[in-house]
Amino acid sequence: MRIAKRCVCCGSADLARSPAVLMPFVAARAFGWESVEITPDWGLRDLPAGWAHSLCATLACDACGLLFLDMRFDDAEMAALYADYRGPAYRTLRERFEPGYGARNAILEAGSTYIPAIEALLAGHLPAAPRVLDWGGDTGLNTPFRDGAALHHVHEISDRPLVPGAARVSAAEAARNTYDLVVSAQVLEHVPDPRATVRAMAAAVGPETLLYVEVPHETLMREAADPEARRLSKRHWHEHVNFFTEASLRAVLASAGLAVLRCLSHPVEAGGRVGHVFSVLARREPSQPAAPGTARNTP
Ligand SMILES: [Zn+2]
Repeated sequence: MRIAKRCVCCGSADLARSPAVLMPFVAARAFGWESVEITPDWGLRDLPAGWAHSLCATLACDACGLLFLDMRFDDAEMAALYADYRGPAYRTLRERFEPGYGARNAILEAGSTYIPAIEALLAGHLPAAPRVLDWGGDTGLNTPFRDGAALHHVHEISDRPLVPGAARVSAAEAARNTYDLVVSAQVLEHVPDPRATVRAMAAAVGPETLLYVEVPHETLMREAADPEARRLSKRHWHEHVNFFTEASLRAVLASAGLAVLRCLSHPVEAGGRVGHVFSVLARREPSQPAAPGTARNTP
């Protein structure tokens, strides 16, 4: 794990900082850390008794407005956190720290109910049976157009079985293929280096490919207009380690040579609850040179 010194979307070093805690479930999964009660029998002269949780910081970028956790997990910690995501071991540990999680998870596993609305947003930009890559698409359950896609590829670090009709591809395989649509939905809020993730998926975005990026538009970001109020009210961090603004999304896409066609914040319903998401449609900047090793992108 490293501590961010610059904004992970726009690169600015102009960051404001407030103390926060990493939620015990994430600390236990990623690091094996457990909260502990310091009692008088520890014999610590200068520390009062009380609970010690995993201390972290909330960082706010003054340039693009991104609000983010200072801790940036490494590959091994990400693998520990997301291995068998929402599987038995994950659910057991999370239920211990967050009673009632199991019942909420059952709703999430039933699949998102707003995919038709996303398909309606994208359909005008795509052929009737698009070739689709879902980057970070878990089992492929929520991939737009999956029932009518000419090709349904999923790139995913977890190894859960895919839905029928979907095929797993490596990043290198994805970069050699041609897609009409590359989807990255509900991924960038989890990753330690959004620019690196977007660069990697951009290798699969050809001159004619539409990129669809979706992230939560977190309640805190919508309801607190003042950046300082947002930062001071963000006192705990869980799996979502990046809280985006439109400016931060535009910055991270621009860093990979991608131009935004449309960016909207809208309400969606999932599992009976209404949340808000940013939906971003983007294409490769025409002036961008071919990504290394992808002859398909050569003009
Ligand atoms: Zn920034």
